[in-house]
Amino acid sequence: MQKGKIGVSSDNLFPIIKKFLYSDHDIFLREIVSNAVDATQKLRTLASKGEYSGDVSNAKVSVKIDKDAKTITVSDNGIGMTSEEVEKFINQIAFSGAEEFLDKYKDDANAIIGHFGLGFYSSFMVSNQVDIISKSYREGATAIRWECDGSPEYTLEAAERAEVGTDIVMHINADSEEFLEKARISEMLNKYCKFLQVPVVFGKKTTWKDGAEVDTEEDNQINDVAPAWTKKPVDLTEEDYNNFYRQLYPMAEDPLFNIHLNVDYPFNLTGILYFPKLKNTVEVQKNKIQLYSNQVFVTDSVEGIVPEFLTLLHGVLDSPDIPLNVSRSYLQSDSNVKKISSHITKKVGDRLAQLFAEKREDFETKWDDLRLFIEYGMLTEDKFYEKAEKFFLFKNTDNKFFTMEEYESLIKPEQTDKDNNLVYLYTNNPEEQYSFVQAAKNKGYDVLVMNNVLSTPLINKLEQKYTSKRFVRVDSDVAEHLIAKEEPKHELSWEEKNELSPIFKAVCPENKDYGFVVDFKDLGENSFPMVITRNEFMRRMKDMSAMQGGG
Ligand code: ADP
Ligand code: MG
Repeated sequence: MQKGKIGVSSDNLFPIIKKFLYSDHDIFLREIVSNAVDATQKLRTLASKGEYSGDVSNAKVSVKIDKDAKTITVSDNGIGMTSEEVEKFINQIAFSGAEEFLDKYKDDANAIIGHFGLGFYSSFMVSNQVDIISKSYREGATAIRWECDGSPEYTLEAAERAEVGTDIVMHINADSEEFLEKARISEMLNKYCKFLQVPVVFGKKTTWKDGAEVDTEEDNQINDVAPAWTKKPVDLTEEDYNNFYRQLYPMAEDPLFNIHLNVDYPFNLTGILYFPKLKNTVEVQKNKIQLYSNQVFVTDSVEGIVPEFLTLLHGVLDSPDIPLNVSRSYLQSDSNVKKISSHITKKVGDRLAQLFAEKREDFETKWDDLRLFIEYGMLTEDKFYEKAEKFFLFKNTDNKFFTMEEYESLIKPEQTDKDNNLVYLYTNNPEEQYSFVQAAKNKGYDVLVMNNVLSTPLINKLEQKYTSKRFVRVDSDVAEHLIAKEEPKHELSWEEKNELSPIFKAVCPENKDYGFVVDFKDLGENSFPMVITRNEFMRRMKDMSAMQGGG
């Protein structure tokens, strides 16, 4: 037997590993299973090149729990390791990698979210001893057993193993016994390993017999080795895309449509993004995009990695160029990640433009679900705004849709304010502002409906972009100048106004907060003899500050 000391300067790394990764101990399973998958893939590659003549056709990774022995074992029939390779890959490199990693992020503990593991050594987060029993694929290789109890000392000796491959045996520590529960392991495998490229088996499929759950003969394979995003778009039907969506989110309503991403240059990226039904709601479920690296789950929180508005989309992104074992702050600053993010923004814009061009009617019927997303994108990403200008739709009070360009032809030449800006009239509440809307229409003006949560900031943005266009709510004082070009039929005296003013102010409490004008005018037949108009600018400022205050 050979004894040795793991090549590392600090005396004991394990306490540090444990401390840094306290938040998500369950990552260990992903690391150990994905190593087993890597080992299998390597052997498949060697076999395909004729460098290995054994059978690789029924490669699989199996996960077993032994509750009595308190162990979890992950076995593969992959490439295996010789004792020299264990020395090199386990004793040296992996450890120094871990040290370097911790060195880099020791001041940034919060940035290391548990989603990002430390490879093989993350098994020590949950184990007080880890054994490796491995037999290399190489001719004449003898099997080896490596044991380490979490101190830098290890033992390495010859062992028995008939087949080529590796067993990783984790002796679960007292604090981690939850991981000896079948349900817990199932849940973790489902989270991290659902789409790995090699079959991952966890026990047998069960059936119910005489009121008890019993094992069948069939392996309980927990993963789909060829998920939809890895296939070619031509090989997939709409139904396949929807089925995959249900695989990801079993309870969700069908999505509106999808975007299949497939880039090999200048970076690798595949994935399928879906537009969920958003409706006009602020309680959108964000962070439903799952990020993978070679089919290994990395995180389901893409915030800070893709532009904010894209976090409203659902689906999967997979890129081997997204590094697995790094902290979140590192991911956010990674140049590949930035390129990927702007590429996705562009693709999403292109896809919407295409849907608009090809199926405008369908696009219009989906507008209520889409517009929050599109408006959010226009407000926050200039690159997206440029594309969205062509498919952003205005809806008027007759439920007709217009692109920005089309709508301009509906603005009458005289529909301007005193500074000669074109005036876009809108209502944010067609029922409440009914008489104003009617008055405007009677004058031949069209009225837009701008009534969702982002309407006010969007109007501000549009006015910034087009300095000669003004948006004026139908009940605003500015509209008054525009609409009532002729003299009011009845003008109240100053005394009369003075007398009536407090009455109006009393029934309109918001008047206390910002000055709106109590004014009197005739809107024509079948309407109120008097109206209260409110300053567009002041009102909008107030709307904005209410939004920012979480209103
Ligand atoms: P990484 O996977 O990023 O290389 P790890 O710490 O997870 O880092 O693993 C270190 C190395 O140990 C691997 O690169 C591989 O060479 C070796 N290794 C780990 N698990 C296995 C296994 N099941 N079969 C063969 N080699 C393995
Ligand atoms: Mg690894």
